[in-house]
Amino acid sequence: MSGYSAPHCGSLRASDEGRDVELYGWVARRRDMGGVIFIDLRDRWGKVQVVFNPAVAPAAHEAASDLRSEFVVRVAGSVRRRPSGSENPRLETGDIEVAASDLEVLSPSEPTPFPLEDSEEPDEKTRLEYRYLDLRRPRMTRMLELRNKVNRIIRDYMEEREFIEVETPILTRSSPSGARDFLVPSRLHPAEFYALPQAPQMLKQLLMVSGVQRYYQIARCFRDENLRADRQPEFTQLDVEMSFCNEEDVFALIEGLFAKLWQETAGVTLAAPFPRLDIKESFLRYGSDKPDLRYELEIADLGDALGNTKADIFRKVLAADGVVRALSVPHGRDMARRELDELVTVAKGAGGQGLAWLPGGPLDKFLSEQEIESIKRLTMAGPDDLVLIAADRRRKAETVMGLIRQEIARRRKLIREGEWKFLWINPTYLFDEDDQGKLTYAHHPFTRPFAEDMSFVEERPYDVRAHAYDIVCNGYELGGGSLRIYDPGMQERVFQLLGMPLDVIRARFGTLLQAFTYGVPPHGGIAPGIDRIVMMLGGTDNIRDVIAFPKTQSMSDLMLGAPSEVDQSQLDELNIKVVPPKKDRS
Ligand code: ASP
Repeated sequence: MSGYSAPHCGSLRASDEGRDVELYGWVARRRDMGGVIFIDLRDRWGKVQVVFNPAVAPAAHEAASDLRSEFVVRVAGSVRRRPSGSENPRLETGDIEVAASDLEVLSPSEPTPFPLEDSEEPDEKTRLEYRYLDLRRPRMTRMLELRNKVNRIIRDYMEEREFIEVETPILTRSSPSGARDFLVPSRLHPAEFYALPQAPQMLKQLLMVSGVQRYYQIARCFRDENLRADRQPEFTQLDVEMSFCNEEDVFALIEGLFAKLWQETAGVTLAAPFPRLDIKESFLRYGSDKPDLRYELEIADLGDALGNTKADIFRKVLAADGVVRALSVPHGRDMARRELDELVTVAKGAGGQGLAWLPGGPLDKFLSEQEIESIKRLTMAGPDDLVLIAADRRRKAETVMGLIRQEIARRRKLIREGEWKFLWINPTYLFDEDDQGKLTYAHHPFTRPFAEDMSFVEERPYDVRAHAYDIVCNGYELGGGSLRIYDPGMQERVFQLLGMPLDVIRARFGTLLQAFTYGVPPHGGIAPGIDRIVMMLGGTDNIRDVIAFPKTQSMSDLMLGAPSEVDQSQLDELNIKVVPPKKDRS
């Protein structure tokens, strides 16, 4: 038997008429028409109808009566046109069928825990437990193929531009990327740990010191974060670093790549160059650093219009350095009270105070006519529109309005489905505020600040801009990167501003700082997320659909049963003593 070079079930066409074939595959469906038996035979390439006729091949017909779904079989037969009128336009092989002369069952199948052919999606927990069966479903096979194609296009594109793929270690040392590390104990170095890479950030920068000049890697990254719907603890990114480059070089490289990916997998021509928006404007106009531009709904700042207002709610917020932001809902004037209440709940859910609205709300009597006119002008509200207003600290008001903007677009069906709205967020800020209100890095500590902004870094650190960029599409961040600091003095300064003591800097980043004293080219890079790209191209919102063997939201692998307990002897070798989790301690 050599099915390897046999024709594929799913690739047979009318042009194969008359051909004798040997096919290998899984029984997708069997229909006994009282006499003649039909099966759909499936392989990775699709399905073909096979006919067993007792008058022509009695032994094969006899064997076919015992077939059940998902049996693995070998069929010999000849390709013929289907009788006129019985073609199936929904199958690519639908013009033909295979008249069987021989059938061999290679492996039977128990009834599967869910049907592998139904268009209805089985329950996800069961899918993940039996992932090897789930992947046999045509929809999932297409996802595996798409992901493979995306990786191949990426590799071809990068190689054409003389980038080389360099593999970096998985057992490595912690390098900050804003999340918790996964640690791996070391048998040979008791009480010491490797970290799995959150990203190969320091290594790719060191490769620039090595003179690689153009590096890429389809790199696995690990981040021990609480999972959100579109995150996985291990994910894959196209990691890129290049020497002697500026932002324009990175933008052109990535725009070309996305254009090629969209063209070759979806037949979509993207309009490049992609628009750019600086982060301040992005938050102001869209309330987000990853705005969805498939709808308008721009947010306006009402600070100027309300400078002398008597309305208490606004006066107090503005006096305390807060902001008042608003957007107008097209044809929202007759919005039902219930919908307004729901929007207020959304605003409060984001930590906001709520929402005010015009006209028809209590505000009507607190604002002057002139103020109302200015608000209408700033929000470009027409007579049928409703203006929604949030007043709060800047960050809060922006987050609230950003969410309200999305909510309105969704509820009122304003999203232009089918459009691909790519943009760059650039420049961004160097620093961010952490949960405790302390200065932290917005991207990672290797990001190059605007040199001219460093003169006021002590007084106004949050205003310091960075040579950093994110690529955004339809409301999702697809990747980010930056030009890097290459002056060791500047790198040390940034570490110090971040409050890192000198000994910590030396221990964690000494290698990089030292490497930078041996001739470092100016460099920069980016890392688009491959899972997210495949999700978009595959038309799914579920990141687990594009990963062959994903983890659940609680980070478990339901198929292999990971994580799992290990043998005591393994722990002993590692010098590890397990302390029972708190809730079990008495
Ligand atoms: N290493 C960064 C990340 O994973 C991307 C970059 O700056 O190139 O987010």
